[in-house]
Amino acid sequence: MSGGQGFRSPEMLFRQLRITRPEHIDLEVIAYACEALVRYEPLTGCEAYLIGNHDRAIIAVNEASPMQRQRFSIGHEIGHWMRDRGTVSFSCDQRKMSPRWRQDNPERLANLYAADLLMPESMFRPRAQRREITLATVRALAHEFRTSLSATAIRLVEMGSFPAMAIYTTTEGRQWAASGRDLPDALKLRDQMGMNTVASEILGESGEREGARSVYADNWFLNDEADRFSVHEESVRAGGGVLSLLWWKDEGLLLALEREDE
Ligand SMILES: [Zn+2]
Repeated sequence: MSGGQGFRSPEMLFRQLRITRPEHIDLEVIAYACEALVRYEPLTGCEAYLIGNHDRAIIAVNEASPMQRQRFSIGHEIGHWMRDRGTVSFSCDQRKMSPRWRQDNPERLANLYAADLLMPESMFRPRAQRREITLATVRALAHEFRTSLSATAIRLVEMGSFPAMAIYTTTEGRQWAASGRDLPDALKLRDQMGMNTVASEILGESGEREGARSVYADNWFLNDEADRFSVHEESVRAGGGVLSLLWWKDEGLLLALEREDE
């Protein structure tokens, strides 16, 4: 018996392989330590797949995808393999590997595993500490952890020091939203953001690719108080949609909602 059987969390793998820094997170080495071999292939119809047989697995990744997506895919498939070892096969498309995919439990768990493997809290949180919630911060962290802008933005709002949200919108409306733990439950996000937002301008015909400014919070939120407060918005075209970071530099709205909660 190889002793490698059974579930191992990313933190357990980091201890086993003595990985302490983001640049040491080599996913092929980690996969190998999990008895899985990574192959790069031309794939159509899916981003990655996993075939497991008893105690061995092969992870195939789309060779044409950007490096960041390949890394997330490998982390996602290791997540499947760690949870469902044995004779298994998974075929995972980009939609299932959306950072906020939540309909399907095995897929959601594999995405959480991938996020913990690529941006472990023990390494990410100290690097996100006291950093401004801006695209510049997201880009710096994405560069260090070799992750996509969207996946990194979600991690930053969840683990950063300031109240913030990350939202992804396409012409079909909001696709997902992520927020930090310190936002009040009473905050109600609009299904469709207002016209006076950077995101609307980017989604429209303006030709702009990104921008940042303070906007009235009622462009993003339904709460009655929202038109009295502003929120800092930075948006950028990403994939087929727009990724937005909302940052409460002015916490007035949050304080008003907290008073309401009491
Ligand atoms: Zn999957």
